[in-house]
Amino acid sequence: MSSSTASATTPAVSPSHDTAGAPGRSDVVIVGAGIVGLAHAFEALGNGLSVTVVERDRQPVGASIRNFGHCCITAQDGELLGLARRSRSGWLRAAAAAGFWAEEAGALVVARSETEAAVLAELRADRGEDAVQLRTAAQTAEALGRAGGEAAGNLVGGALLPADLRVNPREAAPALARWVAEHPRGRVLWGTAVTGVESGAVHTTRGPVQGDRILVCVGHDLDYLFPDVAEEHEIERCRLSMARAEAPAGFRTNAAVLTATSMLRYDAFTTQPSAAPLRSEVLGHSAELLGIGANVMFTRLPDGTLLVGDSHHYDATTPPFVEERTYELLIAAVARVLGVPDLRILERWQGVYASSARGPLLVRDLAPGVRAISVTSGVGMTLSFGLAAATFDGTLAATD
Ligand SMILES: Cc1cc2nc3c(=O)[nH]c(=O)nc-3n(C[C@H](O)[C@H](O)[C@H](O)COP(=O)(O)OP(=O)(O)OC[C@H]3O[C@@H](n4cnc5c(N)ncnc54)[C@H](O)[C@@H]3O)c2cc1C
Repeated sequence: MSSSTASATTPAVSPSHDTAGAPGRSDVVIVGAGIVGLAHAFEALGNGLSVTVVERDRQPVGASIRNFGHCCITAQDGELLGLARRSRSGWLRAAAAAGFWAEEAGALVVARSETEAAVLAELRADRGEDAVQLRTAAQTAEALGRAGGEAAGNLVGGALLPADLRVNPREAAPALARWVAEHPRGRVLWGTAVTGVESGAVHTTRGPVQGDRILVCVGHDLDYLFPDVAEEHEIERCRLSMARAEAPAGFRTNAAVLTATSMLRYDAFTTQPSAAPLRSEVLGHSAELLGIGANVMFTRLPDGTLLVGDSHHYDATTPPFVEERTYELLIAAVARVLGVPDLRILERWQGVYASSARGPLLVRDLAPGVRAISVTSGVGMTLSFGLAAATFDGTLAATD
């Protein structure tokens, strides 16, 4: 049991021992106030349970606030599609309860070649017209704020995936954490790092916190608590370069905008017959973009600015440096889709998420009543509420 790794040096917990900052034992203790932990807190409270969330930072600053705020539902396939669909209703319920912005804006996939359009047509044949609505070049141009017709330029067409959701990643997790903290059965212990976990208690830098069920939702930092489990699951850190940019005049869609490099990443596209020709085509004209693992996409924040990205680099430990060439490539690629010569960049940052060649999820029972849940495929926003619902109805199976 790998939890012994983390708990070996921690003291035994006596049931009467005071907990970190507040008395009492919770039904559920959740380690990590990212979206995976908070979605579980939301679902647990909805099931009438008491919850304590323990977070080492003073506010959410992990992957959950650094991303595009795109719940990328239709592009998933297999088990992940089922979880993503389930997640959708959880997001909408959480947004209504906690009062954060969530829009059923969908995703717009832009096609700039016949091969890209072929992948979209194949997906539509697979999933049906309700799930994949093909768009003409002029319609796609208009959604992007180009003036239609002539301005379509290099566009061939596109597809709207209406089931996808949009949230503001800077707002959603903090709002949900506030909602949990204000709930009569919820509490959030900020600035409290968990140093060890065992059945019935987590040990923290402020003392033990007791709970009947413990969920470890620390994303890529699982290796700090359970190095053996992280190694066994081959968890790496994937770092992504992101920026916030001024939107060109006329840009108006709140749909997430995806491109050919996105089609090379998500299984709903990669399983289509034209995906292999598409990879060769993109390699032919954009080898350098593929070299940085680009998924050229962007989303609009409520203030009208754009979240643009991203690249993918994989390491055990994340180096702090980002080559400027990575940004040059990404920004130029987004500008080309928007039909503008350049973008004014307002902010840059790196995001990190857990990644594993072993599978898209780590769900591991570490001791009686102790479970670790990390999304190891870069779609934690998409899956979070689906995972939480499946955790509490008992259908989330442990992974290998
Ligand atoms: C740039 C970028 C773009 C992305 N785009 C998308 C997208 O479009 N759609 C999508 O679905 N997903 C996307 N993702 C992935 C998604 O953001 C992640 O899968 C998801 O946010 C993971 O959530 P989490 O709660 O597991 O991790 P995090 O948000 O990283 O939260 C983990 C929390 O655990 C805390 N913690 C860690 N160790 C301890 C400890 N010992 N004690 C106490 N607290 C601890 C951390 O401080 C942190 O707050 C993207 C990710 C990035 C980085």
